[in-house]
Amino acid sequence: MELIVARNRADLVKARGEGRLALVPTMGALHEGHRSLIRSARAAAAQVVVSIFVNPLQFGPNEDFSRYPRTFDADLDTCRAEGVDVVFAPSVEEMYDPARQVSVAAGRMGAIVEGESRPGHFDGMLTVVLKLFNLVQPDVAYFGQKDAQQLALIRRMVADLDVPVEVVGGATVREPDGLALSSRNRYLSPDQREAALALSRALRAGASQTGPAGIRAAALAVLQEAPIDLDYLALVEPGTFEEVPDSYTGPAILAVAARVGTTRLIDNIPMGNVGT
Ligand code: AMP
Repeated sequence: MELIVARNRADLVKARGEGRLALVPTMGALHEGHRSLIRSARAAAAQVVVSIFVNPLQFGPNEDFSRYPRTFDADLDTCRAEGVDVVFAPSVEEMYDPARQVSVAAGRMGAIVEGESRPGHFDGMLTVVLKLFNLVQPDVAYFGQKDAQQLALIRRMVADLDVPVEVVGGATVREPDGLALSSRNRYLSPDQREAALALSRALRAGASQTGPAGIRAAALAVLQEAPIDLDYLALVEPGTFEEVPDSYTGPAILAVAARVGTTRLIDNIPMGNVGT
């Protein structure tokens, strides 16, 4: 089957086929992390739609919207190789009416941890995800655990607003040395890439400990040694992203964000049962 590229709503309606439809939303610059989500989608659905849209609403005024990598032709090759049926790649004008007013409010979970560093980011992200759900009308949508707070917020939105889409998370794909794949990794110089390894190393050091205090201390010890600008290290409850107390027992996510040069990177590791 030929890959269909839909640039607008009308193309998308024409491209829709029969059977279970899976959506994989992306901002393009596709890598193995995206590919693993696409493969899961391909295995589970009759039709796979990949959206490629760099969403201006989720970038702050001093963030990298204009210089975010755009590799559309290579992305189409990737989608062809993975047997994708439709790429939905709308323009900003196609997605956003200049008179638009209504958007999704992420609530408290959108304002803490990553949301504290990026005000408005999660409102913009949820708004575009809900629009993509409404436009594509998937049965199921795939998101990476790499963006753990995003995934938790999408699950929250689907539950709170009764959105009829099944949400599936995919494990974080890493380089052999531990670096989580990210479209932003291409900004890193060789030295910066080396420094960036401190994030995954810190998460592993934390995850080797048992209680919350030990987990945080072990991870911080690694981060403080590295030539990076730490934004946050947080050990949070997976459903709410609230920081857990030292007395906590149960599942948690250890999450980190840091600037390496001018590139901001995030990573996290889910922990099945801390404190016991
Ligand atoms: P992005 O294009 O960065 O917005 O990411 C699109 C989707 O791919 C999101 O659901 C991400 O969480 C997911 N993703 C990005 N990097 C990875 C990775 N290294 N492993 C798994 N999923 C990822």
